[in-house]
Amino acid sequence: MKVLRKINSVPIYEFDGKNEVYSRITLEDFDSEPVYFKSVIKPMLAIGHEGELIVWLKNIGLLQHSQRCNNIIDNVPCQGVMSWVPAKIIDQYQWKCKNCLKKRNIREKSVFQDVRCKFKDIIRLLAGWSKGIDVESLTKLLCIKKQAVNSVFNVAATVADKYIKSHLLRWKLGGPGIVVLIETYPEGFKDYEIQENAQNSTPILCIAEVKEVPTRYWLHLLERFNPNITEQVQQVNTTALQVVQEMVLPGSILVTNFESTICSYEALLSLKHLYPVIITKNGLQRHDHFNQLLNNLETIWATAINVCNEAQYLSHLHVQNFITNFLWRQKFELESFENLLHQMCYNFL
Ligand SMILES: [Zn+2]
Repeated sequence: MKVLRKINSVPIYEFDGKNEVYSRITLEDFDSEPVYFKSVIKPMLAIGHEGELIVWLKNIGLLQHSQRCNNIIDNVPCQGVMSWVPAKIIDQYQWKCKNCLKKRNIREKSVFQDVRCKFKDIIRLLAGWSKGIDVESLTKLLCIKKQAVNSVFNVAATVADKYIKSHLLRWKLGGPGIVVLIETYPEGFKDYEIQENAQNSTPILCIAEVKEVPTRYWLHLLERFNPNITEQVQQVNTTALQVVQEMVLPGSILVTNFESTICSYEALLSLKHLYPVIITKNGLQRHDHFNQLLNNLETIWATAINVCNEAQYLSHLHVQNFITNFLWRQKFELESFENLLHQMCYNFL
């Protein structure tokens, strides 16, 4: 990924499939942004300060704050008060019952329960996820196993996905008189630079709001379908139209292709009661004030196409997480990391 352009000091990241910048990044560079990470987290990553980071994770609520002992003594639960005691183990602390002295892992019942790497790597992985850095680059940068990176990425994407689904309003696009473009990857982007193998890929519904720069998008992973089997096409179309209704505010001006398998002009007409103005891309030429839009379509779609292209490198299992990551960073930009931490605490308290 590389920084495309800066708007109000907010870098817009472009996915280029090679991650040239991040494959060369040093740990020093990595730890110096964003500002929140540098000022709050970095001091706790210094050698000899690891314990501080772990206590901090407990204090902010990412690790359990209190614990009762679940040991069974003579068929009676101990229920003793447990407290943190220093231990010569990787986590530096463990729970110890004041009553029966039984010990427990401090990761239990936390988001990190199934994660197998040091806390300082976990926190860097969460920061890396929030910056949109890929798994390979982080594996190399932190010298850890790919599996550990994937498990932390899964935790992050699960938390982000849960938040997005319960706050969809914050991601909705358009509104009265606002132009909203609708295409499906790869079919709708045949004229642009897309992956050669994309024709066999999972289709992604792409919705773009033409209002501000940078363009805001909603991307939705669709089921694979055979274009020659009518029932399959209908089923995917039904899903896509539901997504449009859910994510595009009423009164928006919809722009689509006359002939596309999914969300064609014809198909969108069924939503005319919500969107009175529906135009085809060719129809734009007839509207003088939309001419500029026609010339800028490739620029407007550039980021979405890059995300879809990058997604082609991933296994099906990881594509949804990748899209969730993009939607999260699009919304929170440089504050993606602290917002992620906040949601993790909120979810697991
Ligand atoms: Zn006990």
